[in-house]
Amino acid sequence: MAAATAPAPTVSNEKSHPDTTIRIYNTLSKVKEPFETIEPSKVGMYLCGPTVYAEAHIGHMVGPVIFDTVKRYLTYCGYEVTWVVNITDVDDKLINSAKARGISMFQLATQMTADYLSNLKSLGVDQIDHMPRATENMDEIIKFVQELVDQSFAYVSGGDVFFDVTRDPQYGRLSNRSVDAQQGEGGEAAARKRSSGDFALWKSAKPNEPSWDSPWGKGRPGWHIECSAMSRRILGKTFDIHGGGLDLVFPHHENELAQSRCCHNAPMVKYWMHNGLMRASAATGKVGGKSDRNADTTTTTANATTEPADDVAGKISRSKGAGGLAQLIEKQTGERIRFFLLKSHYRSTTLFGDEPLAEAGTALETFYRLFDRYERIAGVSAYSIEFNKRRSEFTAPEIKSDAISEVLRLRESFLAKMDDDFNTGGAVSDLFDISRCLNRLIESTGLEDSKKRTPDNVAALTAGIKILRELAAILGLFLKPCKQSSQSEGGSAEVVEGLMQLIIQIRADARTKKDFATSDLVRNGLTSLGITLQDGKDGTLWEQKKS
Ligand SMILES: [Zn+2]
Repeated sequence: MAAATAPAPTVSNEKSHPDTTIRIYNTLSKVKEPFETIEPSKVGMYLCGPTVYAEAHIGHMVGPVIFDTVKRYLTYCGYEVTWVVNITDVDDKLINSAKARGISMFQLATQMTADYLSNLKSLGVDQIDHMPRATENMDEIIKFVQELVDQSFAYVSGGDVFFDVTRDPQYGRLSNRSVDAQQGEGGEAAARKRSSGDFALWKSAKPNEPSWDSPWGKGRPGWHIECSAMSRRILGKTFDIHGGGLDLVFPHHENELAQSRCCHNAPMVKYWMHNGLMRASAATGKVGGKSDRNADTTTTTANATTEPADDVAGKISRSKGAGGLAQLIEKQTGERIRFFLLKSHYRSTTLFGDEPLAEAGTALETFYRLFDRYERIAGVSAYSIEFNKRRSEFTAPEIKSDAISEVLRLRESFLAKMDDDFNTGGAVSDLFDISRCLNRLIESTGLEDSKKRTPDNVAALTAGIKILRELAAILGLFLKPCKQSSQSEGGSAEVVEGLMQLIIQIRADARTKKDFATSDLVRNGLTSLGITLQDGKDGTLWEQKKS
């Protein structure tokens, strides 16, 4: 028996109500603020989704994976979260791309939405509650524009409707821009604006473009108004969290905020959360230059939000050759990409490339190997272990193990990091420490050796695996066996186990038939491979000695 000296492990974070120690960095206030919901225990969360004019690329997955994890964590902490991700399915880019492909805008939107959804699924993003499409919310959008016109925050000009930024004294606060620095859309629409910073709420239709009837004639909505209208319909005038990439702070979120705040004379959102952008490591070399705002994730985003999207050098985009997301996922596995996106802080820049992905893969194998080890020891899959789905005290008074006391300390550390502005990067390092701790438990108690194995030690290891899975599930990891892993390392472990059971059966049959020549041949052959067999009353176990 190993370490039986530790006190019965417990942790003291039991809470009957949602945790209130969570702090979120708010782009609007530029500081971390305590998380307090508008309605007790309920969270409304909106993430700006894709404009579906082409296949998704890896950069489009950053926000969904991060906010999927935010929802998982808030749910774990006892909140009831409603998460909305919109689909922009009418836009200049869609119209042009559909023309180039020789299909209708609606056909293109349907195809590209399906592509987006399938990629989300591959990355384990399955927490979205509503995915409203702009074209299905036209009445709500037109109503919103009309309310702004009625209150003189917007004006009609030649069939277009523009938001008048001079009517909003708080305009520019989110992105830290002065009115002088604001530049609205140029082009021929500019001539119809009162001032250059004004932006379109409604655009009059050009010939042969998709259009909808409105009080201002046939046309279609501007991009920004879609989000204000759809978030209001589902989440209300003021909701808790609005997310998106840093490149959306200006003009998109500044404009959303102006529209909603002016329309309702109320704040639109309590917490504005912005994820860092992805950059191509191969194309840009090391992180540096103007867009490097990554050194200190606690203070960074304020400066970066002053940059217009096009200034963010090296940002992953279709024009920089990113693409083939489905093929990338097929090659790398969704779990590896998800892990890669979560192993750094969501506000930091993610460097994308073959090398960082390979590193993520190597890191994940640490966990897959531990799960394989567990299965050999306990005889059941680590994936079949039930674990806590809600934040509560973890009690296992029957387990007296120093290793598990340490795992429980690491669990506290993990949760404290998640409480601190969803620091998944820090939390991941605790998962590694837990895995190290459990491997040490296996070594020190000889758990791989069936002769030394005791029920108490197996139970301690099981408790550790249970905690590991509880915490990993918050990150959306290890929810099911990873496909590629089972084809490579994990899978070969399964094949090896199957072959070993077959060999053990052949040997047992030979012994029953008193064919000792065959049974000895099997045992000696295995010995030469470093594999030993131990016969016990529950059958024969095998073990491979480390070289
Ligand atoms: Zn939006």
